Amino acid sequence: MVISNRAKNIQESATLASAQRARELIAQGIDVIQLTLGEPDFSTPQHIKQAAIQAIKEGNSDHYTNATGILPLKQAIVDFHKQYDGVTYQPQDVVVGTGAKHILFVLCQALLNKDDKVIIPTPYWVSYSEQVKLAGGVPLFVETTFEQQYKVTVEQLNALDLTHVKAIIINSPNNPTGSVYTKEELLQIGEWAVQHDLFIISDEIYYRLVYGDTQAISMASLSESIKSRTIIVNGVAKSYAMTGWRIGYALSTNKDIIGAMGQIISHETSNLTAVSQYAGVAAYSGTQEPVEEMRKVFEERLHLFYNLISQIEGFKLTKPQGAFYLFPNVKEAARLTGYDSVKEFADALLTKAHVAVVSGDAFGMDDCIRLSYAGDSEQLIEAARRIARFIDEHKRNI
Ligand code: PMP
Ligand code: GLU
Repeated sequence: MVISNRAKNIQESATLASAQRARELIAQGIDVIQLTLGEPDFSTPQHIKQAAIQAIKEGNSDHYTNATGILPLKQAIVDFHKQYDGVTYQPQDVVVGTGAKHILFVLCQALLNKDDKVIIPTPYWVSYSEQVKLAGGVPLFVETTFEQQYKVTVEQLNALDLTHVKAIIINSPNNPTGSVYTKEELLQIGEWAVQHDLFIISDEIYYRLVYGDTQAISMASLSESIKSRTIIVNGVAKSYAMTGWRIGYALSTNKDIIGAMGQIISHETSNLTAVSQYAGVAAYSGTQEPVEEMRKVFEERLHLFYNLISQIEGFKLTKPQGAFYLFPNVKEAARLTGYDSVKEFADALLTKAHVAVVSGDAFGMDDCIRLSYAGDSEQLIEAARRIARFIDEHKRNI
């Protein structure tokens, strides 16, 4: 066998694979609307780009940096969190890496021994399960339902056998559902994890993208004991429209975890690309106005797209409060149009209706599809029109 069991045991990232498939059709001249990737269509704010250009001109980007990031970036990150959440960290509590995805990967490597289990509420972001497996760990999925807005409850957690369980991953606002846990819900989960000596991996990458009167709450802000068991994962990709710069970070007061992550990074990437780190300093220490401007646009897109999608026959969903995804249950739409599975229905949306979505099985929820509304409004309107028309036309044929 050429490849390792480790590599054989994982799936390719379905979000990236669906996006690539759509790109290939677009390259063939087919007019496909891309609703696959969770990627803002905005350009990175000018002052951030300028800071990167300046760093290049001054030669600051020419050399290796400290494996866990330059001090000005760590300082800008902790200052930001102090101001935004009221949570106090020190620069030595920060590890900077090549995107939040890389940080989660390194965290799994630093935390897990063979057969250690990690609780992952389903539906979940595609990379969690594979990253846990790549570290030799075992995902312990806990399935949530539409009725509970896909949020895991302490009752469900209490029912688990916790043998070999080391951590729980909480992602609020959530990818793929857009659900946001309330402060009370997070507190209950945090206290439960503390009580059972588990680590909480809190992926807060969307926490500045919340809508209406929804509040973004960092797990670390809930209590000192919860903070001490929590590793915050965050980054610039979603809030600052900086997916290409690949800046992510972990925050934890646990010196062993932060130290181990730094050692792993020192053998792996050496450090996040220096020029990105200087851009990151500008993102966290400069004006935060562009973040709010983009958030408002996402909120408008949410209202627009939700209203259109919720009217489509056979689509069942509630309105999300954060991130930039809709995650409708479309089992009925698949049935109406003659498809045995939602996966086949999602495929038909791509090849026949020319709307690219991600099938829910990638997130552990076979009856749903994920639609990203991070892109242009005109395209969202057209996508909803194409989906509705597709259902209408194919319904008549069965
Ligand atoms: N966590 C979640 C829930 C995500 O959706 C993403 C997608 N980008 C990431 C982490 C990784 O973000 P980054 O682009 O910083 O690697
Ligand atoms: N996180 C985004 C998504 O879920 C980008 C792709 C990825 O990193 O998986 O679409």
